[in-house]
Amino acid sequence: MGDTATDHPAAAGQGSPRPVSGPTAALAERMGVDGLALRVVAVVDEAPGLRRVTVEDPRLAGVVWHPGQDLTISVPNPGGRRITRRYSIRSLDRSRATADLLTLVHGDGPGAAWVASVEPGDQLEAIGPRGKIWPREDAAWHLLVGDDTYLGASLAMLESLPAEAEATVVLEVGADVGEQAHRAVARVRGPVWVTRNPVGSGEPGVELVDALERLDLPAGGAGGHAYLGGEAKTVGVLRGWLVGHGWPADAISAKAYWRADRANQDHGEPEKD
Ligand SMILES: Cc1cc2nc3c(=O)[nH]c(=O)nc-3n(C[C@H](O)[C@H](O)[C@H](O)COP(=O)(O)OP(=O)(O)OC[C@H]3O[C@@H](n4cnc5c(N)ncnc54)[C@H](O)[C@@H]3O)c2cc1C
Repeated sequence: MGDTATDHPAAAGQGSPRPVSGPTAALAERMGVDGLALRVVAVVDEAPGLRRVTVEDPRLAGVVWHPGQDLTISVPNPGGRRITRRYSIRSLDRSRATADLLTLVHGDGPGAAWVASVEPGDQLEAIGPRGKIWPREDAAWHLLVGDDTYLGASLAMLESLPAEAEATVVLEVGADVGEQAHRAVARVRGPVWVTRNPVGSGEPGVELVDALERLDLPAGGAGGHAYLGGEAKTVGVLRGWLVGHGWPADAISAKAYWRADRANQDHGEPEKD
């Protein structure tokens, strides 16, 4: 898997947006977001298990994006039918009409197959930005916890916080992903980086909970807001730990991104038990 970066030839306003297909347009309208006809302009291996994919569409110059939101991309499944998988926007460059996605080459599903084979020049359809979780302006401080699928969303949220904000960040990454840089201006504790055991080994969330225990966080959250993202059982364990430590339920925004025991549904969401 070599680096296949190209220059970004796109600039906002250059060229007309390509039309999106009927099904993508209908889905976008139903979800109340934009339909996008993306062109891949760069693919860079940040680590053996992590690719940064830069996509372009003139429409991205004008979209509303809250850091934490994602693009829902149409990818082929093995039968050739198109399904969707969601990837958080790591950064948006309106001047170039591009978005960066941090995508994992983990698992054996259609999303991972797309990530492994994506190349500059590829064209794909998507809808978004979408998602309901982004930093709360009324929070006294921010706690961001998750696994490596949460890198894009959590680091984008972190970088969106103003200089006077306080944030604590705990992220669990595979050994093939490693620590990632950020350009936050807020007062940041961490990121505390936790190396994940191979998927399927050990109890979900144990290493992240150990890291939280060591941080000696204020009891009950003290007006902070927690944002959790990643593997479904892990997110459940993290939420349970916070509630057990007195955090009010409405101070926790949790989102399951994938499941270690089964594939996500065709529309990109993990099944609930
Ligand atoms: C709102 C949202 C935002 C997301 N943002 C990102 C993002 O920014 N970057 C990103 O990489 N992912 C992100 N994800 C997760 C990504 O969409 C899922 O991991 C997706 O299921 C992968 O699709 P797949 O087709 O490869 O695997 P699936 O078809 O879902 O699963 C196939 C098999 O692979 C396993 N598997 C799936 N994901 C992983 C994994 N991460 N590690 C190990 N095994 C896995 C499953 O357990 C299953 O056995 C996001 C998900 C959501 C809902």
